[in-house]
Amino acid sequence: MGLEEELKKCVHCGFCLEACPTYVVTRSEVHSPRGRITAVKLNILSEGINTCMYCRRCELACPSGVIYSEIITRVRKPNTIQKVMLRLLERPHILPYFIRGEYAKKIPVKAEKPIEYRDNNEEIILFPGCITSIFFKETVQKTLNYLKSLGYRVKIYNGCCGLAHKNAGELNRSKELIEKLRKEFHGRTIVSLSSNCSAHMKENGLEVYDFPEFIIKFNLPLPKVERRLTIHEPCHANILGLNKYTREVLSKMGVEISESEEPSFECGAGGDYFLFHEEISEKVMQVKKEKTLKSGVNTVVSTNPSCSLAFIKMGLKPIHIADLL
Ligand code: SF4
Ligand code: SF4
Repeated sequence: MGLEEELKKCVHCGFCLEACPTYVVTRSEVHSPRGRITAVKLNILSEGINTCMYCRRCELACPSGVIYSEIITRVRKPNTIQKVMLRLLERPHILPYFIRGEYAKKIPVKAEKPIEYRDNNEEIILFPGCITSIFFKETVQKTLNYLKSLGYRVKIYNGCCGLAHKNAGELNRSKELIEKLRKEFHGRTIVSLSSNCSAHMKENGLEVYDFPEFIIKFNLPLPKVERRLTIHEPCHANILGLNKYTREVLSKMGVEISESEEPSFECGAGGDYFLFHEEISEKVMQVKKEKTLKSGVNTVVSTNPSCSLAFIKMGLKPIHIADLL
């Protein structure tokens, strides 16, 4: 459906408000899904359009089936700094050299060059995702070691899925990146280490497995892990129901899961949102931290890299499923 159809579906009931992290921390209609939709309907220039974290929690809460992402991504455009950032995300190999100054200070992990690896006649393409590849290299290495130990021939593909581009309103570039991946991935099994990227690629018709999903569907062996951990459910992965695989993997490992309050509540990172909207982002992180600590543990299973960066900013310890192998 197009923009006009989605706008018409909204009956302004407000059932989405409490699901929206920016509304929860501001209590302002401007920063709510309903307020943003109203602004688009009335063609009003609203700051709320840019403060949306693009978590799509409002879509899951909406009884009228409004596909909010079809609205917001069609009405916002990146500013110059965001455009530069998007071009760099497409090139993880050079991205670490450009993370400097005030932006480097806002990111709690130092960026490094991605790992390169390729077996002859690879059967699996390991897609870390642009952020995982430069900030969580150890997770990538552990996944590679695990897949190799099971006899798989692997190639690491360091690139970008285009989710950030869609979020910023660069719809054509986002589609181009998906088509590029479709060609690159042809005929191979794709395993992704970034759950929200997995969801984005799946929604665009790519046959991709989120890493925990791959473990479950191929019945891969798992070690026993005697730990008590809590779980974060990344937002886009939640829309496709991918987080159930993370729970299943942990359960098979024997991990004791200590539930937080509302594990799918937005982490506050919002992709690159935390770099540009610090005040709202920090408030959302504070709410997320309080909800997470209700689990009684401070180590959080997070299978999406920007969420993991948010947990580090909160002073908590994120851990990917791959880190437990
Ligand atoms: S987006 Fe859905 S839940 Fe939100 S106000 Fe519109 S109809 Fe209601
Ligand atoms: S996508 Fe997230 S931040 Fe944006 S309006 Fe919906 S719930 Fe709120």
